[in-house]
Amino acid sequence: MKDHNMAVIGFGGMGNWHRETINEGVWLSGKLESESFKGLKVTGSFDINEKRQAFANEKGLYAYNSMEELLLDQALDIILIATPNEFHKPIAIKAMEAGKHVVCEKPAALGSAELQEMIDTSVKTGKIFAVHQNRRWDEDYLTAKKIYEENLLGEIFRIESRVHGSRGIPGDWRGNPESGGGMVYDWGVHILDQALQMIPGKVKKVYAATTNVITSLVDDGFYAELTFDNGLQYIAEVGTSNFITLPRWYVLGRNGTAVIEDFSGKGKMTRITDWSKNDAIPIRTASGLTKTMAPRTEETIKEESLPSVESDIREFYNNVIAAIEGREELIISHESVMRTMKLIETVFRSAKSGLPEQFE
Ligand code: NAD
Repeated sequence: MKDHNMAVIGFGGMGNWHRETINEGVWLSGKLESESFKGLKVTGSFDINEKRQAFANEKGLYAYNSMEELLLDQALDIILIATPNEFHKPIAIKAMEAGKHVVCEKPAALGSAELQEMIDTSVKTGKIFAVHQNRRWDEDYLTAKKIYEENLLGEIFRIESRVHGSRGIPGDWRGNPESGGGMVYDWGVHILDQALQMIPGKVKKVYAATTNVITSLVDDGFYAELTFDNGLQYIAEVGTSNFITLPRWYVLGRNGTAVIEDFSGKGKMTRITDWSKNDAIPIRTASGLTKTMAPRTEETIKEESLPSVESDIREFYNNVIAAIEGREELIISHESVMRTMKLIETVFRSAKSGLPEQFE
């Protein structure tokens, strides 16, 4: 591996996360792995905010006076873009044209046409353009994916993936439409991407609705129902006014159900052990009786732990480096980023029309 020097443009919360992760280490299973990225170092940054420039200095980075000065530095070969979303495209194109490889925060762009321009620039300049779809490494997601791929609940007919908070939309650029704010771009880009990564086959139909609980300027949440060509229904939902949260994942198969509570991945699976014992003691309420909804008796079901998964986010940067050195293809392929972007556009289209929209 060669030495690679990276500079961050937009040294805010996430920009500093990249510095910490690369220069200081990654927390894996409660342990700081400080020798994570041999040969890769964040050496500088540029931010339009003076306070972030000073903070960069405090952290031992060289704070460039302008983006132009940064892009002229021959010692740098990789630029990490962590500005608000609206600036991703112009900065990425400038950086690649200045001969730098680019790692870009998500959403890479605000639409498929913009994204295509960025991909075209990568092809034209021969520079790597990698998008940080880091939540493909989340353990909760990988657990749900494993349940699906290993058929642990029999044929899966429905997956529900939710991210719920109760803080509204943050009071920063995420509330501005011009900056590419809103929750479809912010969280939708992760959970819709996960859906496309998890389920093979095409998405035939998309029905979506956005919410404007706290602000009318951008969506502060959304609900999307994807119908895959194998009939599987996939619900993706983001809420920011959910004072009681629903589980992160609810996975339903013919022979069982799984719940994954939160990002930590804790939860359980309940599977059928005996279909033949069908007797049920009805639930009686003041107004009626139901056998259908009576709970199953203990001897016909078994509660189990979720399967274990291993994940290592260091793969992301190690792959970017390998792609730069011509040893590997990017894990986050341009095709996959484009497909997610087109799905986001379809979500917005359906939310606007109020009707289901064809996708693929
Ligand atoms: P932030 O507001 O904390 O940081 C953005 C920084 O960019 C600020 O310091 C701001 O001063 C600076 N900036 C604005 N315009 C600039 C410009 N033209 N040139 C240089 N600097 C500029 O925001 P954040 O939460 O760090 O988000 C930044 C990006 O990271 C967004 O694209 C966001 O979607 C993404 N993000 C990704 C993840 C993830 O898990 N992948 C998590 C959070 C944020």
